[in-house]
Amino acid sequence: MAGCWACCHDRTGSGRWVELGEGDTGVPAELTWSTPGWSPQGDPPPIRYMRHRPDGTCIALSGGLCSIYAVRPQVCRDFQAGSWQCDSARARRGHAV
Ligand code: SF4
Repeated sequence: MAGCWACCHDRTGSGRWVELGEGDTGVPAELTWSTPGWSPQGDPPPIRYMRHRPDGTCIALSGGLCSIYAVRPQVCRDFQAGSWQCDSARARRGHAV
């Protein structure tokens, strides 16, 4: 059964909705993009983000489910269903809260 996935939608249009951390090594590289470093020394280091489709949905979302659930980014693991952030995302997507 597909989930609600309201939080898997980039409402900003910036493509920076889901930021990956150093520990997110299992996310396939082709599903991510990265900012350039600011110097040849890489200081500050590049920041990786999940790619999004033109409609704002995360590229890993498939059939209403996360296709990389087992290796999803930590920020997705930390997101609490039922939290105010969850309610906010659901409200933005027109879901009942
Ligand atoms: S990686 Fe998975 S859980 Fe995280 S935003 Fe994308 S589809 Fe949703």
